[in-house]
Amino acid sequence: MKVIFHPRFYEVYTSDPAAAPGRMDPIVKALEKKFEFLEPRPASERDLEKVHGRSHIQDVKRNPLVYEIGLLAAGGAILAAETAFEGQPAFGLIRPPGHHASPHSCWGFCYFNNIAVAIKKLLSEGKIKGALILDFDLHYGDGTSNAFTGSSSVSYFHPEGTRREGFLEETKRCLQTERPYDIVAVSAGFDRHEEDWGGLLKTEDYFTIGKWTKEVSLDRCHGRRFGVLEGGYNHSVLGRNVKRFLQGLSD
Ligand SMILES: [Zn+2]
Repeated sequence: MKVIFHPRFYEVYTSDPAAAPGRMDPIVKALEKKFEFLEPRPASERDLEKVHGRSHIQDVKRNPLVYEIGLLAAGGAILAAETAFEGQPAFGLIRPPGHHASPHSCWGFCYFNNIAVAIKKLLSEGKIKGALILDFDLHYGDGTSNAFTGSSSVSYFHPEGTRREGFLEETKRCLQTERPYDIVAVSAGFDRHEEDWGGLLKTEDYFTIGKWTKEVSLDRCHGRRFGVLEGGYNHSVLGRNVKRFLQGLSD
């Protein structure tokens, strides 16, 4: 398991909760002794254009700090996807998050759709023919869904149960889709935790979801699997939640 992280993700690039000071520190602390860290390079504008229109990219560019960190986040998702494609599970410990970034607009603390940029890059290079995206963030990833509208090769799932057991059952069902895929990508938002905004999942549930993701990927797509950080705002539980997810996801 490789963790993709860049020290610039510590920077407070806006005043939203995803960019809050002190958010990345507990996660790094929980992971750094257990997993090997890799540093990403920024995504190229060409990579972004696989998902986003030029005018959206120009809009984001008006804030140079957000643009620079945003390129690194997208680059982090790309490196996670490439690492997974080559046979090692990976997690992009990145921000800003991406699943509310649509091709021509964005909201919800997101600017570029990191996971969509990474998947479209693998698709365009002919490395994969299809992908399954599981998004267990509290919020629906409208940006990711919009990026793959009408796509026959990429399935986007966002389980929505309001009871814990129901949510987990639905998550399992999503992973068992009959549509073929060559990689599993997880938009891992931790804001559904019982001590975060959603008030639902226990820390152990993230281990379970990680383990199920590993198992289906070994069954269906040579073990190719990666995740990227989306939401999660209670700094006092984020570190252990991410760690348990990665322990489930890793070999
Ligand atoms: Zn969220």
